[in-house]
Amino acid sequence: MRVAVVGGGIGGLVAALALRRAGCDVRVYEQAPAVGTVGAGIQLAPNATRILDALGVLPAVRRVAVAPTAFEFRRWDDGRLLSSTALGPAAQDAYGAPYLHVHRGDLVAVLADVVPVETGARCVDVAPGARDAEVRFAGGRVERADLVVGADGIHSVVRHAILGAADARFTGHVAFRGLIPAARVAGLPVERTATVRMGPGRHFVHYFVSAGRLLNVVCVVEENTWTRESWTDRGDPAELRAAFAGWDPVVRSLVDALDAPLKWALFDRLPFGRWSKGPVTLLGDACHPMLPYGAQGAAQAIEDAWVLAACLRDNDDVPAALARYETLRHDRTARVQELSRGNAVRFHLPDGPQQEARDAAIASSNGLSPDIDWLYGYDPLAGHA
Ligand SMILES: Cc1cc2nc3c(=O)[nH]c(=O)nc-3n(C[C@H](O)[C@H](O)[C@H](O)COP(=O)(O)OP(=O)(O)OC[C@H]3O[C@@H](n4cnc5c(N)ncnc54)[C@H](O)[C@@H]3O)c2cc1C
Repeated sequence: MRVAVVGGGIGGLVAALALRRAGCDVRVYEQAPAVGTVGAGIQLAPNATRILDALGVLPAVRRVAVAPTAFEFRRWDDGRLLSSTALGPAAQDAYGAPYLHVHRGDLVAVLADVVPVETGARCVDVAPGARDAEVRFAGGRVERADLVVGADGIHSVVRHAILGAADARFTGHVAFRGLIPAARVAGLPVERTATVRMGPGRHFVHYFVSAGRLLNVVCVVEENTWTRESWTDRGDPAELRAAFAGWDPVVRSLVDALDAPLKWALFDRLPFGRWSKGPVTLLGDACHPMLPYGAQGAAQAIEDAWVLAACLRDNDDVPAALARYETLRHDRTARVQELSRGNAVRFHLPDGPQQEARDAAIASSNGLSPDIDWLYGYDPLAGHA
């Protein structure tokens, strides 16, 4: 089967790897002139790393990753610890796979080492036919494939071609992001944890990536309007400092250490009913973009990739295999989207009774709880697909 994967991000590369193992002849077309150096930190929970393990790339991912010791929630003004959930060996024991933090560029590089990618190939349209589909590129080139996978992110051209126009929704949240060399934060009480500091109308996340050489920092604030979207826009350090002025000194020191933060508007979409048409389908952010507050964007794209390949291995009737893939993925990804959207409210509560109730609930759920098993324990290798 000839497969064209549009988009050489995490979802597209993992799909290509899984589909090649399922016996397909796969081409990956990426619009950027080079594969993914842009980006910062990505969290990979056990539901994702177990798939990377099955695909044989986990040892290489571990070499560029950091395994956090715990997941922490802290208060905004005094940094007080609200809860700590052991990860590290506890996550490995509970789920048989590690919880890891990686730089997106490091992960893409590991994947691109084992999957050939054609760069500088910008898809402008896809035309599904009865038996195969046409992929059209900027410059007029056309390729045909028995299956086209749109792994081309939140503003997917492939989604537009098969489902029509529907703009992503600006969520009112904006993230300043950046990477700080570990040596610059050596004097601060910043551990190898995934730490979320919650405060009124904003939150602050940090964790180490790149084998511990860099600290990834994400500072989320609320804004009413947004006119432009890009992964490479710079934020104003003075604006960032003002946004976190009253916060605990550790946060202020980290903000000061961020020389050139990127500034991204955060978009999402409500779940769609379907995301395939004939021999064309979608995966990852193209069909279920989510706020990063469940730390599952990459993980869900990786799950999609595995399940898609499993469905095609079991059934060479492409539309039937795609229908099964959607059925297996729809409700789960919608649930993760909803979890992430809920955290947008929970993380930003103003101080008061609701915040106190939230903090009490968090404090009483120290430790890996059975409530999260549906997310981290999901195992498409064990027959879900
Ligand atoms: C440049 C970039 C940086 C990011 N950095 C971070 C980060 O630091 N932290 C984080 O949590 N998330 C980041 N994300 C988002 C995160 O990677 C995704 O939410 C998640 O991994 C799901 O991935 P995906 O493969 O579905 O989509 P994406 O990661 O968005 O990948 C889509 C890929 O498709 C390519 N593409 C888009 N349109 C076309 C086209 N018309 N033709 C060909 N190729 C096309 C894009 O260049 C990209 O490589 C980033 C995304 C991008 C594109």
